[in-house]
Amino acid sequence: MNKTIKNAVLTLLSASTLLLGATAAQADAKNPKIGFSIDDLRVERWARDRDFFTAAAEKLGAKVFVQSANASEQRQISQIENLISRGVDVIVIVPFNATVLTNTIKEAKKAGIKVVSYDRLILNADIDAYISFDNEKVGEMQAAGVVKVQPRGNYYLLGGSPTDNNAKMLREGQMKVLKPLVDKGAIKIVGQQWVKDWSPTEALSIVENALTANDNKIDAIVASNDGTAGGAIQALAAQKLDGKVPVSGQDADLAAVKRVIAGTQALTVYKPLKLIATQAAKLAVQLVRNEKPAYNSHYDNGAKQVNTVLLKPTALTRSNVDILVKDGFYTKAQIGE
Ligand code: BGC
Repeated sequence: MNKTIKNAVLTLLSASTLLLGATAAQADAKNPKIGFSIDDLRVERWARDRDFFTAAAEKLGAKVFVQSANASEQRQISQIENLISRGVDVIVIVPFNATVLTNTIKEAKKAGIKVVSYDRLILNADIDAYISFDNEKVGEMQAAGVVKVQPRGNYYLLGGSPTDNNAKMLREGQMKVLKPLVDKGAIKIVGQQWVKDWSPTEALSIVENALTANDNKIDAIVASNDGTAGGAIQALAAQKLDGKVPVSGQDADLAAVKRVIAGTQALTVYKPLKLIATQAAKLAVQLVRNEKPAYNSHYDNGAKQVNTVLLKPTALTRSNVDILVKDGFYTKAQIGE
């Protein structure tokens, strides 16, 4: 008899523990805590990504904790560790350095935290998902846009940050377009350099030096984003070559859009940030809720085939900048059209 009562009490106890556990898990799934670790919020686009992401995540019932590493891999590692100890459910990361997060992510996974790589792929790590625009396609658009204006002559290639996997994917896309023209002898690549931290001032001095080294005989510059394009165009302007030498970019930064309209930058590539941020917020919440996100691609990051959501970029020249106003990315007044 005694034994029966004891068993009944034990059963009741374990049922209530289960119930408590389930309630806690459900509360997390209903109001997930998301850590957003961003390489560098000082850069125009990432601040917009943050705002769109936070708004979308909050609509889904989540709370977002944002950190900016300001281009320091050490700071990013400690910020992610901090998010782990705060007990977030998922961490969304824009990595500064693609190759140094293996161990930190191992810690996150051990704590049951999901990990999403945002815009830039994290290499050699057990991440749950990757979301980005098609970076190879962006590279193709950059090269094709410059080739359209200047189909032959001396080309200079200004790459992105050597720690960013996107920089390499962009270059692959650019070379897809350029290589056949190099092989044909229409184009000569007179120099190329990666720009540390995607720094516009670094880009400025690289292009100043390239112009000097080539007696100003550079006919086109394939720059990998708008920030570095701005530096390149400043160097060209000092030699009165701005507007004569086509330069590419990406991001549709406000200053770059103005340059495209003014004719000093041949094109930029528009990546609707609201789209990636909203999709990423949804993806992060779905992972916490153990729902199945809709992936449309996958990438090998050295550790695994990573489930990927790949979004479409749009090449933007003077003839179609109005898309930005239609899309609500800028107002008419902002771009002065
Ligand atoms: C992003 C670009 C951005 C660059 C510098 C790249 O990984 O894809 O949109 O301009 O980083 O922040």
